[in-house]
Amino acid sequence: MSSIPFVALFPKQGEAETRTMTTIGYGQLPDDEYALVEAYCTDPSCDCQRVMLNVVGKQQMKEGYLAAISFGFNRDGEMAGPFLDPMNSQSKHAEMLLELVSNVLENDSAYVTRLKRHYQQVKTAVANPTGAISQKLARLQGKSGRTLPKSAKTKRKPRPKPNRPGKKNRKKRKRR
Ligand SMILES: [Zn+2]
Repeated sequence: MSSIPFVALFPKQGEAETRTMTTIGYGQLPDDEYALVEAYCTDPSCDCQRVMLNVVGKQQMKEGYLAAISFGFNRDGEMAGPFLDPMNSQSKHAEMLLELVSNVLENDSAYVTRLKRHYQQVKTAVANPTGAISQKLARLQGKSGRTLPKSAKTKRKPRPKPNRPGKKNRKKRKRR
């Protein structure tokens, strides 16, 4: 599954609508403001109905994602969760963060509704392959070296290198 942060596709809205949790004296968890960075699957043909909540601490940015929590919207589905995603690395704080996030998801139905809305927004945007968001997505995935469709890869020609006169010992490219 290839997924992308919501905020990467919709920066302004993403920043405004990213949930944060401020903790003080919560178990072994460092006091901090924790942001739940949403990532969604960008396969237009996939109806996985889930979000990945990647937790970052504002004072712990250098630690990267402290927990990757998978949450499925279908409460009867096997991906219901929330659970710590086994495909991602988790920090020593992950279990406590899962507990916190589970509480939020249980008690804040408006937030869950917003997550579903964001999911739908991403799926609608990627369903239109020529739309602005799809193009942005292709750029983003190209930049991070992730899988591009094969057609996009093979069509791209290598940029011809300029001939530099002074370098005689340069290996010549084989020509057909
Ligand atoms: Zn999916």
